[in-house]
Amino acid sequence: MSRPTLGIVGVGKIARDQHLPSIAETGSFELAALVSPHGTGLEGDGPEGVPTFRSQEEMLAALPRLDAVALCTPPSVRHGLAAAALAAGKHVLVEKPPAATVSELHDLVAVAARNRRVLFTAWHSQFNPAVEAARERLAGAAIRAVRIDWKEDVRRWHPGQEWIWQPGGFGVFDPGINALSILTRIMPAPLFVREAELLVPENRETPIAVTMTLRAAAGAPVGPVSVEFDFRQEGEQTWTIAVELEDGRRLELTHGGTRLFVDGTPVLSEPDSEYRRIYRRFRRLIDEGTSDVDAAPLHLVADAWSVGRRRTTAAFHW
Ligand code: NAP
Repeated sequence: MSRPTLGIVGVGKIARDQHLPSIAETGSFELAALVSPHGTGLEGDGPEGVPTFRSQEEMLAALPRLDAVALCTPPSVRHGLAAAALAAGKHVLVEKPPAATVSELHDLVAVAARNRRVLFTAWHSQFNPAVEAARERLAGAAIRAVRIDWKEDVRRWHPGQEWIWQPGGFGVFDPGINALSILTRIMPAPLFVREAELLVPENRETPIAVTMTLRAAAGAPVGPVSVEFDFRQEGEQTWTIAVELEDGRRLELTHGGTRLFVDGTPVLSEPDSEYRRIYRRFRRLIDEGTSDVDAAPLHLVADAWSVGRRRTTAAFHW
C-alpha cells in the first residue's frame, strides 16, 4: 500500500508536541489535514500545504479519499468522532483514554469490525522499551507487592485545560491511566480494584488525587498494588512503578516508564520514542488489516469510580 493519508483531529498540546513531529519523522503517513475548531495555534495555521478544517465532518466531506484519522481531542467527544470516522471508512487511532466510558469503547470495537477498519487504542506509555523489558522479566515471577506513585503538577502539564475537571475529563486519572496502562501490560495476572478514595475539589467534578489498592485473584502470584495519583505535586515530579519480587529483587520503572532499574542498577533507559513507535505500529496495523484495542486500563478507572469512596477536598484554582 502506498503511504496512507492521515488527518489529525484536535490540534492541542499532544498533537503539537508529539503527533506532528512523529508523523514527520517516521514518514509512515502523509499528513493530509488538520481539524481544529478554534484554529491550530500553529504558525501559518500548520505545515505548508496541509488544509485546516473547523470540524471532522468538514474534513471528511472535503477529503473523501482520506485513509486514516488520529483523534487527539479530549476524551468526552472521542466516541462520536471515532464512530463517524470509522463509518466513513477511515482507520482510527485514538489518544488515551480511548473513550469516556467502557461501553463507548466496546461500541467502537463493533463499529470498526462492521466497517472493516482498523481501530488502534494508542496507550503511549506502553511503547517504552523499558516497559517491554519489565514485562519480560516479570513473566512467571512471584510478586510480593507493587507501589505506584504518579504525582505531577496539573498547572505545569495541563495549563488551562478546563475539560480535565469536567465530567468525562478524568481529572488525575488522565495521567494516572498511563500508569495503569503500564501496570496492566507488565503484570502476569489480572488485577482488580479493591479499595479507592477519590478526592474531588469542591469546585470541580473530577478527582485531583486518588489512592487505590488493587489485588489479583486468590492464588495468583501477585501481591497487593498500592496506587497514589496526585495532581498537586510541586517541585520534583514522580512517575514511578516499583515492583518487589518474592525472591527479594526489586524492579523499578521511573520517569513514566522510560527507565528500568533492577536492584537500583539502571538496565535500560531510552529517550522518548513512544510516539514514533505508535505511528509505526498504526501503519503496520493498517497494512495487516488488524485492530489493536486494549480496554484494561479504562476498566480499572471505571472500577475505581464504582467501588471507590468520593471525598470533597479544597477548591482548585489555576
Ligand atoms: P488540549 O491541549 O486541550 O487539546 C485538545 C484539542 O482538541 C484542542 O485543540 C481542542 O480544540 C480540540 N477539540 C476539542 N473538541 C474537538 C472536536 N469536537 N473536534 C476537533 N477538535 C476538538 O489537550 P491535550 O493535552 O492535547 O490532550 C488531548 C488528549 O491527548 C487527551 O485525551 C490527553 O489525555 C491525551 N494526551 C495528552 C498528553 C499531554 O501531555 N498533554 C499526553 C498524552 C496524551 P479547541 O481548543 O479549538 O476547542
